[in-house]
Amino acid sequence: MIRTKVLVIGGGPGGYVAAVRAGELGLDAVLVEASRLGGTCLIRGCIPSKALIHAAGKFDALNHTVGGDALGIAVRDAPTIDLARTVAWKDGIVDRLNRGVQGLLRKAKVRVLEGWATFSDAKTCTVETAGGTETVRAEHVILATGSETVSLPGLELGGPVISSTEALSLSHVPEKLLVIGAGYIGLELGTAFRKIGSEVTVVEARERILPNWDEPLTIPVKRSLERAGVSLHLSARVEAVERTEAEVRATLRTSDGAIARITADNLLMTVGRTPRTRGWGLETMAVDMNGPFIRIDDHCRTSMRDVWAIGDLVGEPMLAHKASAQGRMVAELIGGARRRFDPVAIPAVCFTDPEIVSVGLSPAEAAARALETTVGQFPLSANGRALGMEAGEDGGFVRVLARRDDHRVLGVQAVGAHVSELVGEFTLALEMGAMLEDIEATIHAHPTLTEAFHDAALSALEHAATEAHRVARSG
Ligand code: FAD
Ligand code: NAD
Repeated sequence: MIRTKVLVIGGGPGGYVAAVRAGELGLDAVLVEASRLGGTCLIRGCIPSKALIHAAGKFDALNHTVGGDALGIAVRDAPTIDLARTVAWKDGIVDRLNRGVQGLLRKAKVRVLEGWATFSDAKTCTVETAGGTETVRAEHVILATGSETVSLPGLELGGPVISSTEALSLSHVPEKLLVIGAGYIGLELGTAFRKIGSEVTVVEARERILPNWDEPLTIPVKRSLERAGVSLHLSARVEAVERTEAEVRATLRTSDGAIARITADNLLMTVGRTPRTRGWGLETMAVDMNGPFIRIDDHCRTSMRDVWAIGDLVGEPMLAHKASAQGRMVAELIGGARRRFDPVAIPAVCFTDPEIVSVGLSPAEAAARALETTVGQFPLSANGRALGMEAGEDGGFVRVLARRDDHRVLGVQAVGAHVSELVGEFTLALEMGAMLEDIEATIHAHPTLTEAFHDAALSALEHAATEAHRVARSG
């Protein structure tokens, strides 16, 4: 029997960050991971998908120079891609980061058990390791088992019906790819496969792509998908799927009620993810649930004393940086610190073409809360750096939303190439309670995309001043 102060289940960005922080604080910690350290994010999610998206973008850019482009650059022959080599390159990055996590845990003196944990009560689990069964009893348990792909009812993953995990390790480019769900994964990976040559069809149940995002941000993405030749079926449903070893034949009900039949080499299932709450004895722990998620308070405490839960397991947003922030906080709470999980904003980035970022409230969300606001928007087509990087002509913009009375920034959104790299500044502005005047007073380096944030803030101030003038005159 291993007795420990802290037991962490799951080595994803929630669990490994919690375990490392616990170790750094001098707490005796054990981490159990059934698969590879790094979890969904590092092994089969964020990192590998962004590497594939980068490779696809490079291939696409080369393709556009065949015969000459507007910059005067020409290559004679169309580029080729050896997807098995691309995947091997991506695996190299994953292996390197996986070793990095192992190193961090070693340095923090965290004991790692490789195997599946099963609880028999809230503080005791057994782990099936290669060397036999270990029983672990802990004072504090941090649950970080993450999430898994959801499939359509009656349609099991397998063979040509794949999830993002298989899509990130294909050995060849599918000639035809059918993507179900136009959310984060469907559009990030669907776009990448289109760029490397697949004929891509996307089926979305709702009336627009990225239905959870503010619509104006999604319009440049929709235009880009259409330009790239991705076939979009919105307000559509898959009625039936037949499959052989080599292909799928799907029957769709389209928005006008007609039936469409689509044949594809692969069907990529991207209709969402669900918390991993089964198969490890959660039912023996007597913790309260919140729908499919584990219920927590603002300290990530479950209803069972000294059992904590973090990351995808506890609800939206299911994002790596939220999991890590919660993991770090819980370790510090166990170490005796006074902390609370109460961020002003959790940034979200969609790595589509162009990219979308959102932090804080959108204008519609502010309106729903009856907040009086002022909005400033600046087009990337007027930003010199964007134009010089061929990133100004895709309908991109930066938008700032602030309270009308004191000009406190409530939300920042952007769409455009490379805007993911602006999100740190946006989040910092919100977290530090910046006013539009703070952004105005901050000198932004020239020429950079960050100037578009400054310009959007100036536009919001101008808008506020015009409004005040108009109100004064009418009064
Ligand atoms: P996970 O990373 O899922 O880790 C849970 C770990 O627990 C797993 O390693 C699992 O093997 C282990 N485990 C589960 N049960 C047990 C058990 N009983 N015993 C032992 N081990 C167990 N988020 C972003 O912020 N940015 C992105 O760009 C992004 N891209 C993504 C792309 C894809 C294709 C996918 C699928 C997800 C992406 N995400 C992204 C989401 C992100 O991966 C998750 O939000 C994040 O990994 C959640 O972290 P976690 O620690 O809660 O769980
Ligand atoms: P998602 O929730 O982003 O998108 C699912 C889409 O499928 C939605 O548009 C939904 O309307 C649609 N849908 C649902 N049922 C359908 C059906 N029967 N037929 C057709 N369409 C249907 O989910 P996802 O893309 O699977 O990603 C899962 C989670 O992973 C995300 O919510 C996010 O938390 C995380 N993720 C984040 C990033 C990032 O941060 N860049 C990237 C990938 C994944």
